[in-house]
Amino acid sequence: MNVRALSCLGLVALLCAAEPAVRAASPNYRNFNVAVYCRVYEVRQMKDPAYLENAWAAISPHVKVDKVYLETHRDTIVVDQETLDKAKAFFTAKGIKVAGGITATISEMNQFETYCYSNPEHRKKLQAVVEFTAKNFDEVILDDFFFTDCKCDLCIKAKGQKSWTAFRLEQMDEAGRNLVMKPARAINPKVKVTIKYPNWYDHFQNLGFNLETEPVYFDKVYTGTETRDGVYSNQHLTPYHGYSIFRYFENLKPGGNAGGWVDSGGMRHLERYSEQLWLTLFAKAPEITLFDIRQLYQPVRGADGTSVPESQLARLAGYAFSQADGILGALGTPVGLKTYKPFHSSGEDFLASYLGMVGIPMDIVPAFPAEARTILLTEAAKYDTGIVAKIKKQLQDGKNVVITSGLLKALQGKGIEDIVELEYTGRTVAAREFLGRGATTRSETDILFPEIRYATNDSWEIVSALTSAGRTTGTPVLHSAKYSKGLFYVLAVPQAQGDLYSLPAEALNAIRGVLCRDMFVRLEAPSQVSLFVYDNDTFILESFRETSTPVRIVTDKRITKLRDVMTGREIAGQPRGNESVFDTSARSGAYSVFAAVK
Ligand SMILES: [Zn+2]
Repeated sequence: MNVRALSCLGLVALLCAAEPAVRAASPNYRNFNVAVYCRVYEVRQMKDPAYLENAWAAISPHVKVDKVYLETHRDTIVVDQETLDKAKAFFTAKGIKVAGGITATISEMNQFETYCYSNPEHRKKLQAVVEFTAKNFDEVILDDFFFTDCKCDLCIKAKGQKSWTAFRLEQMDEAGRNLVMKPARAINPKVKVTIKYPNWYDHFQNLGFNLETEPVYFDKVYTGTETRDGVYSNQHLTPYHGYSIFRYFENLKPGGNAGGWVDSGGMRHLERYSEQLWLTLFAKAPEITLFDIRQLYQPVRGADGTSVPESQLARLAGYAFSQADGILGALGTPVGLKTYKPFHSSGEDFLASYLGMVGIPMDIVPAFPAEARTILLTEAAKYDTGIVAKIKKQLQDGKNVVITSGLLKALQGKGIEDIVELEYTGRTVAAREFLGRGATTRSETDILFPEIRYATNDSWEIVSALTSAGRTTGTPVLHSAKYSKGLFYVLAVPQAQGDLYSLPAEALNAIRGVLCRDMFVRLEAPSQVSLFVYDNDTFILESFRETSTPVRIVTDKRITKLRDVMTGREIAGQPRGNESVFDTSARSGAYSVFAAVK
């Protein structure tokens, strides 16, 4: 058991003591709503009034629930009208809103088998489920599975010469319009339909999730912010991903990202549950859905041997919600380094989340962010065929453009050399010593970098990786070149993106100095300390490290004092050139919220 797990047990003890006083303060959370999702398997059980009473008795003392989603279909199982009516009546009588949910799976257990949208029987069945659900609810959400992984003979024939990606993007766009939106509105003109997306956006296009068209014709989108374990998982998602994905989907449909969604799956430590919830809220999600009632309802044995309704997860959630509700009102709109992800693009998958984990606040946008003074372009930007011209225009306008080594590689021979002649050599080199701002620092392990060749004095290294056993050779980690009135940079991304965590603090500080130059605050700290910045001189510091670590906060000179919003404590800054610096520490598994004292 590590330190973070221990602190989690402490948290459970603390919240049991603290909860009643907090709960008495207000009937609902001020800054967000809470929903509980119920799968069709559990909705079926609601036929039994005792199940409903007990599940509700386990959850409702801890979490102030505003809404429940009652699923009508999953795995070809459809709930009967009588049971659905009982469930609706139960929650409505308690003042809880009810909405419908649909999961378009044939068999979730069979490697997430989805519907086949080439199969007329499947299409008919799904349309009937949509009609049944829209008849019962004014709000309907589609859970994660409105994509297709079908490769049956009908689909192979329908695909023809197209790529699977092109075929599925078209197929799901059509299915969304004709099997969901059209029949839902025909049955219930008032119905609002939300499409909930899972957490793997860089691969969506391959399975037909269409982020270009669906956010336009669905009423709302919803965000899977479940990142589960940050190390031992097949998906390899970082904790920061739960924040940045919400902001990305908000940018897909401004004002139309209805909420974030967390489950309890795949975690080694309970602490990760609370952390996923508050990261969703840091992103300013207006609603948070707890998936699902089965995971939340955890009865325990009473002294007399009978089953007592209980929910440790709801206790954790209730504490995390109360604490976050106390700070969210102080925060403005989230801001970050804009990084451009064209529709249906991939490359250096989820790199923005890794950069968030090394203390660079990120903001993923689907349109080229021409207005931003500094932007980051990853390999995904190669999907925009006009990208080199757009980079040149930024530089000619006196702005800064940072591209990654992955994009440099993709644009070799495609016009990037018109800006600066750099060569992505294709060789990989190992480094554990780094040179930047005149000082050398070491990482604990070798980090593998792509080697980049440049012409001396045409462009220059800001951070260097010293390679070979004698450290007599090297390659840039951060490189800069002038072009017109702007500055152009290349950031070399380690061959394994997670090795960004191994970069020493001094190298990361130099990188943050360039990438975060337009923000009023940045960090000088080791990796795995994240910074969440808002447009009203407030920010959050959260450590994902195993132990506490010293952190230096650097702000604009105009800020001389910071107030810790949770404790009221004030810290005075020390002047350093055009900046103020504040020395503090980041506790493991905890966050601090700061506001500039004006
Ligand atoms: Zn098929």
